[in-house]
Amino acid sequence: MNLHEYQGKEILSSFGVRIQRGIVASNHKEAVEAAKQLKSETGTSWFVVKAQIHAGGRGKGGGVKLAKSLEEVETLSNDIVGMMLKTPQTPPEGKKVNQVLIAEDVYYPGDSEPEEYYMSVLLNRSTGKNMIMYSTEGGMDIEAVAEETPHLIFTEEIDPTLGLLPFQARKIAFNLGLSGSAFKEMVKFVSALYTAYVKSDSSLFEINPVLKTSDDKILAVDAKVTLDDNALFRHKDYAQLRDLREENPIEVEAKAAGLNYVDLDGNVGCMVNGAGLAMGTMDLIKQAGGDPANFLDVGGTADAKRVETAFKIILKDPNVKAILVNIFGGIVRCDRVAQGIVDAYKNMGDAIKVPIIARLQGTNAKEAKELIDNSGMKIISATEFQEAADKVQEVLAS
Ligand code: GDP
Ligand code: MN
Repeated sequence: MNLHEYQGKEILSSFGVRIQRGIVASNHKEAVEAAKQLKSETGTSWFVVKAQIHAGGRGKGGGVKLAKSLEEVETLSNDIVGMMLKTPQTPPEGKKVNQVLIAEDVYYPGDSEPEEYYMSVLLNRSTGKNMIMYSTEGGMDIEAVAEETPHLIFTEEIDPTLGLLPFQARKIAFNLGLSGSAFKEMVKFVSALYTAYVKSDSSLFEINPVLKTSDDKILAVDAKVTLDDNALFRHKDYAQLRDLREENPIEVEAKAAGLNYVDLDGNVGCMVNGAGLAMGTMDLIKQAGGDPANFLDVGGTADAKRVETAFKIILKDPNVKAILVNIFGGIVRCDRVAQGIVDAYKNMGDAIKVPIIARLQGTNAKEAKELIDNSGMKIISATEFQEAADKVQEVLAS
């Protein structure tokens, strides 16, 4: 589950990571109140107005603006809330901004050398260890750094059973070129950051930039946090951080129905049981020259009700021009699933306007094929995997 910057910063702060402070607002009036409150708490009179969307590159897209007065906070917030913000990470039409974070300006006027670093914490799946990636080249263009000067990005691997060892935190501060009080501050920052990552059960922290001010404070100016969905049951208080406005509505609905669905760009809807088979099906569609519209794992119990729900969800995507049903009957018998497909088809009347190709293999596959062929419905049956993919291409071409 992805979080907004302001939510990520709250989590960091709760574990003692120093952050650029801010207050979230949903409109220009709230923004001015937020700025007043920040002023009284921090003494700042300059602010940064930051669009809150689940995408990076906001600065480049015009979603992060410096405000030198309360009036500017008001006008900038008024401009940014409601805008369609386009960044290199949003869809082409942009993402609607519902909230802004009013943050203290931490780049002091006259501070000639604020240093911006990059730091992320994530899991290295190939070594089974956590890792901290960091660089002196923080700021807005870490992708370009990775592309052009990858040797400027360092990696520190952390054994999860040992945790971050003190020498590792010192090594990071050293490699960032720090000394004196800034060095000590960085050691504290890195340690707190790693603790926050582990304790919050996150799968990604990306802090870009981490700022060093001229008076040697180290703080998180930005925060991209992804929580591990599988650990959310341990953090009941994080559930309310989900912002459904940021998520694909079809995926949200599928999830509520207990279906594992991921929206994709193609035109062949897929209904498959088992994640592995679903991946294989998508590969085969591609190989046959098609393009999957979704990943959908209906799970082990593909009964009529579930199949119907799955059809409805697939058909919400207007790009879908054909549906490939690919079911392996291991635990569940193929004839039961076939009955489910036929029943769902009947129940849905003429809601299904696209051709369906159904391939069922495994226990009672023969009975299943007969059931479909004799149903009188416009369902094309197939036995072999390749045959099914080719039939999809045929109906798309006709
Ligand atoms: P991103 O573009 O989505 O990664 O958003 P960031 O939160 O990283 O902000 C983008 C850029 O805005 C940063 O790299 C900074 O250069 C700038 N910025 C952020 N906070 C401040 C601030 O307090 N003062 C000033 N002057 N610039 C800031
Ligand atoms: Mn950033």
